[in-house]
Amino acid sequence: MAFDSLTEKLQNVFKNLRSKGRLTEADVKEAMKEIKRALLAADVNFKVVKDFIKNVQERAVGQDVMNGLNPGQMVIKIVNEELVKLMGSTTTEIQLQPGKAITVIMMAGLQGAGKTTTTAKLAGKFKLKGKKPLLVACDVYRPAAIKQLQINGEKQGVEVFSMGENHKPANIAKAALEHAKKNDNNIVILDTAGRLHVDEDMMQELQEIKETVEVHQTILVIDAMTGQDAVNVAAEFDQKVGIDGVIVTKLDGDTRGGAALSVKAVTGKPILYVGMGEKLSDLEQFYPSRMASRILGMGDVLSLIEKAEAEIDEDQAKQLTQKMKKNQFDYNDFLASTQQMKKMGGMSGILGMLPGMGALGGKGLKISDEQTSEAEKQMARMEAMIYSMTPEERENPDLMNPSRKHRIAKGAGVDISQVNRMVKQFNEMKKMMKSMNKMGRGGKKGKFRL
Ligand code: GDP
Repeated sequence: MAFDSLTEKLQNVFKNLRSKGRLTEADVKEAMKEIKRALLAADVNFKVVKDFIKNVQERAVGQDVMNGLNPGQMVIKIVNEELVKLMGSTTTEIQLQPGKAITVIMMAGLQGAGKTTTTAKLAGKFKLKGKKPLLVACDVYRPAAIKQLQINGEKQGVEVFSMGENHKPANIAKAALEHAKKNDNNIVILDTAGRLHVDEDMMQELQEIKETVEVHQTILVIDAMTGQDAVNVAAEFDQKVGIDGVIVTKLDGDTRGGAALSVKAVTGKPILYVGMGEKLSDLEQFYPSRMASRILGMGDVLSLIEKAEAEIDEDQAKQLTQKMKKNQFDYNDFLASTQQMKKMGGMSGILGMLPGMGALGGKGLKISDEQTSEAEKQMARMEAMIYSMTPEERENPDLMNPSRKHRIAKGAGVDISQVNRMVKQFNEMKKMMKSMNKMGRGGKKGKFRL
């Protein structure tokens, strides 16, 4: 995940600070130097780093730290607050037109930034909110782009408007708007053509669209992997076309992440969403505070909860809770819970968001890709074993006996020891649920503490 290296470096700085009883000005200065190096290495814009360090330093040598009260933590707190500020402090929603009016959103960005994918991802988000989006293929230079939008639109259950390659993008946008009016679409998202580099033609084309139809929001898609370049690109687009917000893609990759940290400070435009993978569900609303705690390695429990809430089928969850209460948890439920986990992005997605797991918490806790993929394989084996059970066995875990286990092992193509392990895990989970039930009675519900 992005920021891994930055996180690790910041963690080291904080560890050093924490080992000191009281911070001197020299300690703070040294720490600032390290933080500066770490941010530059993460490809954060130089000027942004300079201002950032200045702000942190001013606050850090202030009275709070000089009081000697847990000084290391105080610095973490200040760095955290300044990171949040750097990324815009609050979450910015895409502004929609009031009432039944159609909101026109124009997507812009360089080729390969992830524009077409993000357009479809965004349509999915709007659809979930009860809107009726229309996607418009304005990239007339790459037939593949039109096809890609059509395929993705279909996957999202969203209509795609296309006029092929022989019309001007501005005219396509105009016709699409007419179509939207007739079809009760309330959001029109224009997927425009990118180029490999910023060039005049592209900018002109976007301006022409803006002159032809009323565009309410221009959203720039930038690729986090391109680091500083992405931020320069954003500044140029803003100057030439005017943008309202940014979506940073590919933050799931092994990028240094600097773009996400600099773009607001350089362009003044907020990050609206971040792309966290190739799947159409991998688009997350951007919360500066959560991103900051991710970077600092406090994990992101809030995102995890939100993701779970959005993706776990509510009825299934209710049923599961009921069964847990009555201690009727069976193999069908076990299967359902692994499937829900998969929906949440599998092991790697979940582990990355738990405090101390993703990037840090000390090197010892770092989960390697191999460990994650082993856990995922294990999950797949578990599913195969449950699929090899008879319906009765799934509903009555007590039926399990050695001959049934042998049959299941054979059916799933695994060793008998694997079946034993799965049965053991199942029983442990059931036991855990029983004790959680006991604990939960009369206690507070649904509270998570960091
Ligand atoms: P466009 O040329 O700007 O329209 O870019 P595309 O939408 O075709 O995306 C280019 C490539 O980036 C595709 O292979 C996408 O699957 C991939 N991509 C887009 N967004 C993300 C993301 O958030 N994470 C990852 N890992 N890949 C992405």
